[in-house]
Amino acid sequence: MREKTLFSRIIEGEIPADILYEDEYCIAIRDINPQAPFHALVVPRKVIPRLVDGSEEDAMLLGRLLLAAAAVARSHGHGEAFRVAVNNGAGAGQTVFHLHVHVLAGRALGWPPG
Ligand code: AMP
Repeated sequence: MREKTLFSRIIEGEIPADILYEDEYCIAIRDINPQAPFHALVVPRKVIPRLVDGSEEDAMLLGRLLLAAAAVARSHGHGEAFRVAVNNGAGAGQTVFHLHVHVLAGRALGWPPG
């Protein structure tokens, strides 16, 4: 069996985290190393290592992640200006191989992102 991911361990309560939002599909936690005044991670309960590993059967779940990202931004006062980002693969900066959507807000967000 594959080792549990860091985020599965957080979802199962083995590792503490600041939980901002939870529903049957996903959880949102505060990022431990924030890159903006508000930085949350929306993580599906189902382990999908990278976005590219998602399949047709995950279509609804992937939509749920975006809705949760918007909900968590809105509920923390950032509904008018926030960014969502997914790093896919080590070459794009992914370090935790359990899909997650970054939600960043609270500062000017430059474009293009680095
Ligand atoms: P990525 O580099 O896109 O895979 O994002 C992984 C994110 O997880 C990084 O922004 C980390 O700061 C964050 N992270 C790592 N460990 C924890 C933790 N224990 N609790 C919350 N966020 C974490």
